[in-house]
Amino acid sequence: MKKMKAAVLTEYRKVEWKEVDIPEISGNEVLVKVGYACICGSDQHVWLGEFHPRNPLPLIQGHEFAGTIVETGPEVKNFKTGDRVAVDPIIWCGKCPACLRHHYPACTTLKLVGIDLDGGFSEYMKVPETMLYRVTENISDKHAALVEVLSIGFHACNRAKVCSNDRIVIWGAGKVGQCILQAARTKTKNTLIMVDMIDERLAMAKKAWDDIEIINAAKTNAVERIRELTGGEGVDIAFEAVGHYKDIPGAVNPVRGCIQAIRGGGTVCVLGLSSEPSPIVMKELIWKEGIIMTSRVSHGEFAETIENMNRGSLRPDAIVTDILHPSMTQKGFEMLEEEPEKHLKIMLKFSE
Ligand SMILES: [Zn+2]
Ligand SMILES: [Zn+2]
Repeated sequence: MKKMKAAVLTEYRKVEWKEVDIPEISGNEVLVKVGYACICGSDQHVWLGEFHPRNPLPLIQGHEFAGTIVETGPEVKNFKTGDRVAVDPIIWCGKCPACLRHHYPACTTLKLVGIDLDGGFSEYMKVPETMLYRVTENISDKHAALVEVLSIGFHACNRAKVCSNDRIVIWGAGKVGQCILQAARTKTKNTLIMVDMIDERLAMAKKAWDDIEIINAAKTNAVERIRELTGGEGVDIAFEAVGHYKDIPGAVNPVRGCIQAIRGGGTVCVLGLSSEPSPIVMKELIWKEGIIMTSRVSHGEFAETIENMNRGSLRPDAIVTDILHPSMTQKGFEMLEEEPEKHLKIMLKFSE
């Protein structure tokens, strides 16, 4: 058995850089030599043990990664050795009520590579060809590894049906919020507002797109400021991408803030994975006959993301704060836990 190095979660809060077997491929599988991978917010939940017992240990994490095909199985039809690919990590069952209606992100047994089974924090990774998207020459390996997370922003925009003149607020300037911002900017030329409590994150967003408005909800009444910025009307669409939130006396919680920020007939799209209840007042939504909806992972938006990346309409580097050698994966998780204001997307560079 040929060996490779991988970042293995051997127990919760402990990743070890160690030698493991290179996976053997068969059928329609290919072997991908990983170029870059990224640490995601859900990887942090897994690392902390918050998804227990969903994920088995030891586990090779990583569902955001890209690389080059170095070997193909006998039944592979559409890809060849040397192709550069991004990997869509979603595995749906195809049989549950959601899948039968082609609503794959809502599959009752949805699995993700790198969470429910071994993923891309390794030098090589085996993947069925059905999960691959070819990456164009203009796109670097580094940017290719960001396709997955950016596609979550595109999926959220498609769920909420963002139109070219929509005014939008994105509540939460973390990894997900910044990806929604990137996707939203390709779709609307109108006002985009970002809300967060961490100035550094708002500054990152503003640095990438200086035509956006930013609001620190810990210092300013965010809903009032959004009303001011929209001539008293409110936004067409509000995305909530906070998840766990800190209660600040006098400040509204993010979901309720989004409801208060939309215009009559507007849409609130919730993405933040919070385990705590978010108190809302339904009357505030009903009076506006507003829509509240959710968005999870992505659904084929890899293609749209790659197309936009190829055209240069995204700024992938804006969300990356650190690039580490994969032997430092443990350190990467600690950095995200200890200094969330300093780090957004941490990338692991496996090969050039
Ligand atoms: Zn992710
Ligand atoms: Zn299903």
